[in-house]
Amino acid sequence: MSLQNYIRDIQGFPKEGILFKDITPLLIDPLASQECLKLLVSTLKDKKINKVVGVESRGFFFGTLIAQELNAGFVPVRKPNKLPYETISATYDLEYGTDTLEIHIDAIQKGDRVLIHDDVLATGGTIKAVSELVERLGGEIVQCNFIMELSFLNGREKIKDQEIFAALTY
Ligand code: 5GP
Repeated sequence: MSLQNYIRDIQGFPKEGILFKDITPLLIDPLASQECLKLLVSTLKDKKINKVVGVESRGFFFGTLIAQELNAGFVPVRKPNKLPYETISATYDLEYGTDTLEIHIDAIQKGDRVLIHDDVLATGGTIKAVSELVERLGGEIVQCNFIMELSFLNGREKIKDQEIFAALTY
């Protein structure tokens, strides 16, 4: 099965000039989703990961499934003012303006072995901000993984020190 067949290109979303990779055809197909999950956990079995951090919102879909597979806890990283308890936050640059992400202060303990998961690695700004949050709480980032990497945007350059895995590369 080729997972690429389950990613749909949407021209001009969310704004003109952007070619958006839509993962909903993958989510709606149980066999393709199972295959994707298998790939995402395939490199993680002996890595003693005890926390999986998923990035709002498309990082939640497979993030929770990966956590179950690894018998690890799931931690949501969310947009501002969504998490109810005390948080720390990281702000990062977008093409126009900035964005902020938050995590609960008690979600990661010092020494936790962490996988960060999101659907897409594009310019790397998001994953860099999430990495900062995890590290500020004392977590050790074992891997960052993605359904797909848009390699032509060089997101890897922003998280050079980290192990990266993507089920699909464009
Ligand atoms: P970055 O910060 O690496 O530039 O962008 C990654 C974030 O933007 C991810 O959270 C991802 O959900 C979202 N994103 C950027 N481009 C796309 C895309 O083409 N498809 C999807 N599904 N998400 C995208």
